[in-house]
Amino acid sequence: MLTDDEQRGSWVRQTGTNLPKVGRYNRAVVLDQIQLADGISRVEIARHTGLTPQTVSGIVRRLLDEGIVREDGPSRVPSGGKPRTTLRVNADAGCAIGLHFDPAELTCAVVDLLGRPLVAKRRPTPPDTDPAQVVAAMAELIADVLAEADVPRSRVLGLGLATPGPIDQDLGMIVAPPQLANWTRVPMKRMLSDATGLPVTLDNDATAAAVGERWSGAGRGVANFAYFFLGTGIGGGLILDHQVYRGGSMNAGEFGHTSVLPDGPECYCGNRGCLETLVNPSAIVANVHRRLAERHGGSVLSEPFDRDPTSVDHAAIRVAASAGDPLAAAVIDEAAAHVASVAVNVANITDVDLIVLGGHGILHVEKRYGDAVASALASRPLSRHIRRVDVALSPLGADAAVVGSAALVLHATYSPQLSALIAD
Ligand SMILES: [Zn+2]
Repeated sequence: MLTDDEQRGSWVRQTGTNLPKVGRYNRAVVLDQIQLADGISRVEIARHTGLTPQTVSGIVRRLLDEGIVREDGPSRVPSGGKPRTTLRVNADAGCAIGLHFDPAELTCAVVDLLGRPLVAKRRPTPPDTDPAQVVAAMAELIADVLAEADVPRSRVLGLGLATPGPIDQDLGMIVAPPQLANWTRVPMKRMLSDATGLPVTLDNDATAAAVGERWSGAGRGVANFAYFFLGTGIGGGLILDHQVYRGGSMNAGEFGHTSVLPDGPECYCGNRGCLETLVNPSAIVANVHRRLAERHGGSVLSEPFDRDPTSVDHAAIRVAASAGDPLAAAVIDEAAAHVASVAVNVANITDVDLIVLGGHGILHVEKRYGDAVASALASRPLSRHIRRVDVALSPLGADAAVVGSAALVLHATYSPQLSALIAD
């Protein structure tokens, strides 16, 4: 696991350019530095980005005028030099709404410009309903959260929606998500924007969570990391060289569809023995139920299973495993071993510095998953003798996707993206 100081060791060094006509890109680079640092001076920004002090000063002046950034008194300077003014993001300059659409649960949060949730609320996703009803439930939840946070819509910069993939980013559509049988091509972005009057940014839930980790979680300031999202399904997000790596169709990082058993069960994706088919919550529950039915004995889950098998659900199994129940722990450890194998593959393919584990699917058993992945990364990647890939458990936990989806709004607004450079 990484300490804070070790993480700062791989601190952001994103370079700007002093060529003309790239103003928006430079602005994004400067703002990104201010967002990721806990107080930074103009001189430090110039040093980290390679921009001239004049360019940095000009950009900072405009950010101050717009109220997005504020000055926060002089910072300490080593060897008695002239004190420098520290710059920080002005957390109150606006806010963003994050909405995580999980087939089982909707989670909504309003966050400030530092990524701190002001109010968060959850409600069950209406089961087996059509998209229009789901959108209505989303709009209601958003109105509730804004009312409770006492934030007027005029201060909301936008709404970020994290949804299960696959998605068609160009058309703002969710395309045949595996857990929503009746949904084929749903124009979610337009529907939600019509229902709320807010600009909507749509992204894959695991990518959104990776953006959130980069903004205010375990990946803060880390140049290269992979995020494993274990929820109802299993996804992943990649941050490579400080950028979100989305791939050609914006669906990169489907770690859940890595084959870990070539002769394993068929997956809906067309592959065999996918990580997701082996370790999704229903698979874990089925595995535990089978063992309980075979009367292995010695498990705290045996009695509740005899009384009502449905009471032995994924949450009950995780709680039992965390308390050391041998049957539950054995099943969770098998799942963790499969996740560890895919983590080794990802480390070999992408050469990331860090693997982050998060999502509500590992609640209570974070340590079992973390230990399995850490031990695999210490002994199996080819480059382990050059440097060790670290593991971190997400400090955002089950809220990573919702914080991440809000971050997405701000990321699209501020963060250094090639698209911003091209658009200029
Ligand atoms: Zn698959």
